[in-house]
Amino acid sequence: MKDSILVINCGSSSLKFAILSNAGQDTLVEGIADRLGTEESSITFKFEGEKKSMLLEDGSHKSAVAHIKDWLSDHPAIARALVGIGHRVVHGGETFSQSVLIDNNVLNGIKECAQFAPLHNPAHIKGIEIAFELFPGLPQVAVFDTAFHQTLAAEQYLYPIPMHFYRQHHFRKYGFHGTSYRYISQRLAQLVAGSDQQGVLVAHLGNGASVCAISKGLSVDTSMGITPLEGLMMGTRSGSIDPSLLSFISQAENISADAALDVLNKKSGLLGVSEISNDCRTLEEAMASGDQRAKLALDMFAVRTAKHLASMATTLESIDHLVFTGGIGENSSYLRHVICDHLKALNIRIDSTLNENAPRGGTTSINSATSATKVWIIPTNEELMIALDTISLISH
Ligand code: ADP
Repeated sequence: MKDSILVINCGSSSLKFAILSNAGQDTLVEGIADRLGTEESSITFKFEGEKKSMLLEDGSHKSAVAHIKDWLSDHPAIARALVGIGHRVVHGGETFSQSVLIDNNVLNGIKECAQFAPLHNPAHIKGIEIAFELFPGLPQVAVFDTAFHQTLAAEQYLYPIPMHFYRQHHFRKYGFHGTSYRYISQRLAQLVAGSDQQGVLVAHLGNGASVCAISKGLSVDTSMGITPLEGLMMGTRSGSIDPSLLSFISQAENISADAALDVLNKKSGLLGVSEISNDCRTLEEAMASGDQRAKLALDMFAVRTAKHLASMATTLESIDHLVFTGGIGENSSYLRHVICDHLKALNIRIDSTLNENAPRGGTTSINSATSATKVWIIPTNEELMIALDTISLISH
């Protein structure tokens, strides 16, 4: 069947890609070009269980997409079935509340939203322009991380700062990981009929981490803000802190406000507290061998996640489901345990045996019989959502 979609997630120094077929159910090939812009950049293809890497001559985004095109000419059956390209776009501002077919107006809209995602959106635009050049005639779709949260009410998305900042500059909460939350909400509705009429909390915990409250299938609150810095403690991001710290850090280190912001974005979180790593798995190993700094960082991550989940719950009529997803949410039984331990007051309880024995990569429920809330582990699948949105928009 002719329904294959090339999904592209083009960042400033990496480009992830996958080709999905069969209504997004099968991943035919996937890969990553990384260290773009350096002399060591390479591209890796994973196809039929085998990984193949090659150096990229000039380390450019364009040569990465050209390699994908070359790979396709060596695999003509896959190339023939390709009907469209779906791009992940981080920031859609208030302009995009759903996925769209890309034309010049849309490209300009993505450019306008770049003020809030100065690293991401310009890279996405580059990826889109290169894809148009190398795959002329193939329709392209943009899928926005922010779109799912455009249903938030004004009292949730506004910051309590002078209103002209919103009116003139669109400073407000946008939220991210929306494609993941939309997938989880739909997947849960397949698992539990009627859950799209209930209250759901989702913790998307990866290197970047956020939580979201979903009521009757719509996002009603989320922890990330105008940028992905707000909310939870993350791999290298501090998450929410007293904003005065920004000026204290810049004075203490004699650095600019932007450089102080860099400290909060790149040197804080699990990395800053543990002084070991931003990686949860590395920290769990260090904790297991007795490292107290690793344990402190992980426990801080857990209590902050629990606090944000509890505050999200204020937007729901009931907490019928709590879902863990993302690399940490799907794999760290320790963090799931500590997070849920801090949600006992909300009658959320997990079964430690189910939690510890949860199958890797699988969907499962881990709540105890007495829990008021069903607790789930559901692997996220943003590529599938991007492929499905692309199919749906190009077939209209
Ligand atoms: P990103 O936000 O970059 O997409 P991921 O969702 O891939 O991140 O999550 C990456 C995080 O998941 C890392 O901190 C990693 O250590 C953690 N992780 C992955 N597998 C495990 C595991 N088996 N146990 C604990 N943490 C894990």
